[in-house]
Amino acid sequence: MKSNIDIKALDNAHHLHPFSTHHELREKGPRVITHAEGVYIYDEDGVRILDGMAGLWCVQLGYGRQELVDAATDAMKTLSYYNLFFQTTTPYAAKLADLISQKTPEGLDQITFACSGSEAVDGAIKLIWYYWNLKGKPEKKAIISRERAYHGSTVAAASLSGLPFMQGIFDLPLPRFHHIGPTPHYYEYGNAGESEHDFAMRCAKALEDKILELGPENVAAFAGEPVMGAGGLMLPPEGYWPEIERICRKYDILLWSDEVICGFGRTGEWFGCQTYGFTPDIMTMAKGVTSGYQPLSAIALNQRVAEPIINADTEMAHGFTYSGHPVAAAVAIRNIELIDELGLVGPRGEETSRYFQSKLKTLDDHPLVGQTRGVGLLGALELVKNKETKERFAPGGHAGVVCRGHCFETGVVMRAVGDTMFLCPPLVITNAEIDELFDLVRTALDKTAAELSV
Ligand SMILES: *Cc1c(COP(=O)(O)O)cnc(C)c1O
Repeated sequence: MKSNIDIKALDNAHHLHPFSTHHELREKGPRVITHAEGVYIYDEDGVRILDGMAGLWCVQLGYGRQELVDAATDAMKTLSYYNLFFQTTTPYAAKLADLISQKTPEGLDQITFACSGSEAVDGAIKLIWYYWNLKGKPEKKAIISRERAYHGSTVAAASLSGLPFMQGIFDLPLPRFHHIGPTPHYYEYGNAGESEHDFAMRCAKALEDKILELGPENVAAFAGEPVMGAGGLMLPPEGYWPEIERICRKYDILLWSDEVICGFGRTGEWFGCQTYGFTPDIMTMAKGVTSGYQPLSAIALNQRVAEPIINADTEMAHGFTYSGHPVAAAVAIRNIELIDELGLVGPRGEETSRYFQSKLKTLDDHPLVGQTRGVGLLGALELVKNKETKERFAPGGHAGVVCRGHCFETGVVMRAVGDTMFLCPPLVITNAEIDELFDLVRTALDKTAAELSV
């Protein structure tokens, strides 16, 4: 796929990238990915790289799947565009709303569409405020989330996120957004001698303390990712989510599960809240719903939240030109059907996850690895200088960057946040490809250890 046009030069001349430091990028030039097939991506020199991250956590069915291409082609020919505004629908949007409502936990069966995770998050915030206005409690407006949460990058979604590097430079967060700590990540924040359960209760108590500090009459909702993703792939400690649910119910606070990463089979069930045993009032979903072939996201509301909106005299004056776009919806429908047909939430998914998790565990013996952890087809490992004391390399994040570089050179994509490395492969990955994945990861870890002279 080598062309005579110099893509790197064009890109450097005119393109500002998401989440990049531009002077660095322009010095090195971007990596150019030209095509992809199955679990592999290819760069402009034809080098094959195993995509251990499913793109940005979203390519559930792998790349180049003909059924999804056909679904998009058919829809584009039949109904290239129409909108859902002003009392109109399309067969694609209506069928997709029905299909998603069958997969969400019982009761969460009112669906509205958007085009990205951030837009769904932004919309959920508006609908939560609208709900409390309709309920005659306009003072209930504060939204609580967690330090190190990632909920997207619009003005509101970045405010809801708990990542200061995304906020200060843009004069965020907006008022009404509150963040609690400790982040529920036992390896990092658990105290010496504290059991995982006690730690979970301490994290949940931080929510109760914040509600009482703000006054329950002022708090609208608590938002959380079932497994915290982009902030560091952190699994909830045992007992955490049921306790969070109990606290939300006690103070009449809406519980919002941001399922953008966990949805569509990533943690083994359709949604992360099912894996962790809690039932939210609101869910946001995006990555995975179309396997990344088209941009589409959705919000699911339970009856309690939907009812006043459905019965309101005012219109729900919210939505986007491309909300529930017919081509994107057609791809989402086929994608969800295929997840079912292939047993990816079911026997095949269970078998793949079991194998993936057992291979992940084999990295525990590596001198650089302080901890491995995972659920479903999510995996993380902590790079440390000393396994016993959990001492990190200095400066923080350097080891992660070194390791990520070696991964690419070795032929595998792993993502780094600080010194945590993540894996999130396509759900269709085979056991043989999992073997290859972990061989490549081990090689990259060895090279990283050599460079950091461990
Ligand atoms: C990625 C992500 C988002 C934002 O989705 P975009 O499609 O990038 O806007 C929101 N919430 C969570 C949990 C995410 O992982």
